[in-house]
Amino acid sequence: MRSHPFALPSFVALLGFAIAWAGCGNAGGAPRIEAGTPCVRCGMETRDLRWAAARRVDGRVRVYDSIECALKDALPRGTAAGSELYLADFTTAALHRSDSLWVVRADIPSPMGGGYAAFLDRSAAERVALERNGRAGRLADFVAGEAAAMDAPAPGARR
Ligand SMILES: [Zn+2]
Repeated sequence: MRSHPFALPSFVALLGFAIAWAGCGNAGGAPRIEAGTPCVRCGMETRDLRWAAARRVDGRVRVYDSIECALKDALPRGTAAGSELYLADFTTAALHRSDSLWVVRADIPSPMGGGYAAFLDRSAAERVALERNGRAGRLADFVAGEAAAMDAPAPGARR
């Protein structure tokens, strides 16, 4: 009698899947933000956590009231799209890795006027972009534009 040829491999595959799933999102875990924490960039209190963001730097958490503040703080250090940056999912206000979210820049009342919000659900992000005259994409899609804006010479200046 031979045992079922697929019994062992499928068990190993299932185990591997379980380990991968358990490891996903739990490596370090997303930081938590207490409402009222001042934004390290602009000093305003983080009141509505749906707009908030956080970044791990040297074991500490830098809290932002808005994605636009997070970008302005992270961009000069070249770390805006890395695994250390977390944005709030607008639907639940829970923080997630920035590269797992869909980002919208549109006519929406974000705390510092940058018009940024993030969603886990791509269709939610695209709907907001459509209804509020904006666009949706990954954070990396917006980083180049923000970096260019920060490096831009004054109007009329020539290099
Ligand atoms: Zn801020």
